[in-house]
Amino acid sequence: MKQKGMTLWFTGLSGAGKTTISQAVEKELIAQGYKVEVLDGDVVRENLTKGLGFSKPDRDENVRRIGFVAQLLTRNGVIVIVSAISPYRNIRDEVRNRIGDFVEVYVNAPLAVCEKRDVKGLYKKARSGEIKTFTGISDPYEPPMNPEVECRTDQETLQESVSKVMKQVQERVHANDHVKVSV
Ligand code: ADP
Repeated sequence: MKQKGMTLWFTGLSGAGKTTISQAVEKELIAQGYKVEVLDGDVVRENLTKGLGFSKPDRDENVRRIGFVAQLLTRNGVIVIVSAISPYRNIRDEVRNRIGDFVEVYVNAPLAVCEKRDVKGLYKKARSGEIKTFTGISDPYEPPMNPEVECRTDQETLQESVSKVMKQVQERVHANDHVKVSV
C-alpha cells in the first residue's frame, strides 16, 4: 500500500463553507497525486441515503451510511473527503472510532454570517417556516469538542483554511516516515 488512507470529515452549519473548502482541498490533493474520493452531503442524499429525512434518527442514519463507505475507502488507502452538516456529536464520534484515521474539520462561522450568505436560500425558507427542521434555526447543531482542525471562515481566507487541512494531511502521511524497514 503506497498511500495512507484517511477520512477528512467536514462538519458545520449550512453555508459555513464545507463544500467550498473541501472542493479546494480535493483539487490540491489531486494536484499532489493523491487518490481522493468525495462524499458530499447533498449528493449522498440523492443516492446512498435517498429517502431519509431530517429527524434525529434519519440524520444519524445518513451519517452512519456515509461513515460506512468512508471506512471502506479509508482502509483501501483513499483520502476520503466528507462534507455533511452532521449535527450530532455522538454519531460523529461513533464514525470517528470506527474509521480510526479520522480528521474532524469544524467549519465554523457564526449563524448570523451563514444566514447572511444564504448560499442556497434555505435560511429564508427556514425563517418563514417552509422548512421545519433546519439546523441552527429550528434544529440543533452540536459543535465538535476537540476537532483536529477548526476553520473560522468569517475570519480567515479560503486559502488559510485549506492550508490548515493540508497540514494535517501532510503530518499524517509522513507520521511513519522515521520508521525504517530493515532487511
Ligand atoms: P456549506 O457547504 O457549508 O453549506 P458552502 O461552501 O456551500 O457552505 O458556502 C459557503 C459560502 O461562504 C460560499 O459562498 C463561499 O464563497 C463563502 N465564503 C466566504 N469566505 C469563506 C471562507 N473563508 N471559506 C469558505 N467559504 C467562504
